[in-house]
Amino acid sequence: MVITSNFKPTSYWWEAAPIGPANAVTPPPGVDVAVVGYGITGAHAALAVARAGRSVVVLEADGIGSGSSRRNNGAIVPYLFQKQYELEARFGKVQGTEIARIAVDAVDFLLETCDELGIHAQVRGFDRYFLALTDKHREKMYHSCALQAESSVNTGWVPISAEDLQERTGLSGYAGSIFVSNSLTFHPGIYHQGVIKAAEDAGAVTVAYNPVTSVRSTTNGTLLSTPKGQVLAKDVIVATNGYTGAPFNYAKDGLMSVRIYNSATEPLPDGNKAAQFAARHLLVDSSPTSPGSGQVRTANAFL
Ligand SMILES: Cc1cc2nc3c(=O)[nH]c(=O)nc-3n(C[C@H](O)[C@H](O)[C@H](O)COP(=O)(O)OP(=O)(O)OC[C@H]3O[C@@H](n4cnc5c(N)ncnc54)[C@H](O)[C@@H]3O)c2cc1C
Repeated sequence: MVITSNFKPTSYWWEAAPIGPANAVTPPPGVDVAVVGYGITGAHAALAVARAGRSVVVLEADGIGSGSSRRNNGAIVPYLFQKQYELEARFGKVQGTEIARIAVDAVDFLLETCDELGIHAQVRGFDRYFLALTDKHREKMYHSCALQAESSVNTGWVPISAEDLQERTGLSGYAGSIFVSNSLTFHPGIYHQGVIKAAEDAGAVTVAYNPVTSVRSTTNGTLLSTPKGQVLAKDVIVATNGYTGAPFNYAKDGLMSVRIYNSATEPLPDGNKAAQFAARHLLVDSSPTSPGSGQVRTANAFL
C-alpha cells in the first residue's frame, strides 16, 4: 500500500553510494575462481581471492549491490538471533560456541576492514531495547537473558523493568524490556562500495546483469553459463542469496526464505534530526499481526 505521494521503492543507501557499472562487459573464458553474486559476501570473497593472487570473475544477476547488502537496516550486532545455549543444544558445545563467537568476530572484522581500506561507513553506537508485550513475554525474555548470562560469549543483554524502561526512554505500556548496549549502525552502501573498489583494485573482473543460468562439472573445472558467455572456473564460490534460481537449488534447500520489507519515514527536516535521534535508542516491538497468525510486525523506532 502506498501511503505517501513521494513514496519510492529504492533504497536510501543507493543515493549516497550509487551502484556503479561493472568493470567488464563479458566474462573471461577461464579463471581460477568464479564468484556468483556481488553482495557483501561476494565482494569479500572476490577481495580475498584477488589478494591471494588468483584470477577472479564476479558474475552478478542484477545490478551490483542490488540485493539485500544495500537494502538492509545497517545494524551491526555481536549476536545471532539463535542464542548460544540454543546453538549448543543443536550443534554441541564446541560448534555452538564457535558459531556464537562468529557474530562477535564479525563486528571486529567489519571495523578492521573499515580501518584498513579507509572506508568511512558512518559507524555509530546505539542502545537497543527489545520490548516485552505481556508479562508472559517478559518472563520468556528474562529467562533467555539468564541463560545467556551463563554463556561464554557475552551478548551484553540486560533485563530491565517496565519502570526502568519508562525512565530511560519515556515509553510506557510495555511489560519490561531487554536492554542491549553494544550495537552499532553503519551505512551498508558505503561499506559495500568500499569493499568492491578494493576487490576491483586487486584485480577482480566483474560482470553485472548476467545471471548464472547453469553449472556443469567438467574434467577441467566447473563450466558456468551466463547470457554474456561461458566461464570455466577451477573453483566456484556461490555468494547468492535464498532467492537464487535453478542452478543453485541445492544451496536453496539449506536456506529459509523470509519475506522482509524495510520502510522508512519521509526524510526529516535537518533541524529535527539531531533532536529526534539524540539518545540513539532503538526500540524493537515485535507484535503478531493478529493472534495465532504466525506473522510478526517488527516496528523499529529510533528515539
Ligand atoms: C530488509 C532487510 C534488512 C536487514 N537488516 C539487517 C541488519 O540490520 N543487519 C544485518 O546484519 N543484516 C541485515 N539484513 C541481512 C543482510 O542484509 C544480509 O544477510 C546480507 O546482505 C547478505 O549478503 P549476501 O552478499 O549474502 O546477499 P545479497 O546482498 O542478497 O547478494 C546476493 C547477490 O546474488 C545475486 N544472485 C542471485 N542469484 C544469482 C545467480 N544465479 N547468478 C548471479 N547472481 C545471482 C543477487 O542478485 C544478489 O545481488 C537485512 C536484510 C534485509 C532484506
